[in-house]
Amino acid sequence: MFDSLSDRLNDTFDRLRGKGKLTEADITSAMRDIRMALLEADVNFKVVKEFVAKTKERCMTAEVMESLSPAQNVVKIVLDELTEMLGSTESKLVFSNRIPNVIMLVGLQGSGKTTAAVKLAYLLKKQGRSPLLVACDVYRPAAADQLATLGGEIGVPVFRGDGAHPVDIAKGAIQEAVDHLRDVVIVDTAGRLQIDEQMMQEAVYIKKAVKPDQVLMVVDAMTGQDIVNVVSTFAERTDFDGVIISKLDGDARGGGALSVRQVTGKPIKFVSMGEKPDSLEPFYPDRMAKRILG
Ligand code: GDP
Repeated sequence: MFDSLSDRLNDTFDRLRGKGKLTEADITSAMRDIRMALLEADVNFKVVKEFVAKTKERCMTAEVMESLSPAQNVVKIVLDELTEMLGSTESKLVFSNRIPNVIMLVGLQGSGKTTAAVKLAYLLKKQGRSPLLVACDVYRPAAADQLATLGGEIGVPVFRGDGAHPVDIAKGAIQEAVDHLRDVVIVDTAGRLQIDEQMMQEAVYIKKAVKPDQVLMVVDAMTGQDIVNVVSTFAERTDFDGVIISKLDGDARGGGALSVRQVTGKPIKFVSMGEKPDSLEPFYPDRMAKRILG
């Protein structure tokens, strides 16, 4: 992911490097290239607009344009602003003293929630915790089976209440965790292909019933401009504390991944880079920005 964006940005920087001192026209032209590159990567247009305005303002100073290596200064500013766009600093999971802690995952169907739930359980297990996975997606027939299989593969129990209402399943899971000394409950909720009132309402009820310590929204990195609609609806209805970006290993343009921090105002906590259980990684904005700039 981001290969084409990286290439485009690096071409722009190479052109600047060939120029020595920079004029306003050089910066304007570079910013135009950067704007195009980000839009083509499907980054949300408002995010692009703000990014370019801030970057341009910082570049259009005598300090930068007349410095010994102006192009290097522009690269540094773009790197800074990209890091800022991605959230500046690492944002870890925050656990409360409550036992069990409850983490609820929300997101559209196919966004990678079930996969992320399993990966999160795997990560927490490796950190010495005792997670319990909960299958609250009762609509997609294979969802609970998928969770049970994947849970089995990583040695984490899965609570499923076949035939029960999702709210009762979630409540039952908390009791199960108390009874069997599991200290983190990870609730996988149902999604739809598109925002759907019934689905939203159900997520709201589950949230009310289990009072999660954290709600994490799973967002597919391939989501393009539609990201604003999707995340703002979840923000309004279930709210969430952080984001897991899934499918960052794909070869799509990755606009969703780059926009989500600015669009939601919530930190990206993890990125998912594949289908294997160990492919969930904490998110470091500076490392990602450096990776994009190659
Ligand atoms: P859910 O409907 O939100 O629970 O989505 P799933 O977890 O079932 O994921 C939908 C599809 O995306 C499945 O085929 C997953 O294997 C795949 N998937 C999920 N996360 C990733 C990821 O990080 N990388 C890749 N390549 N595929 C993923």
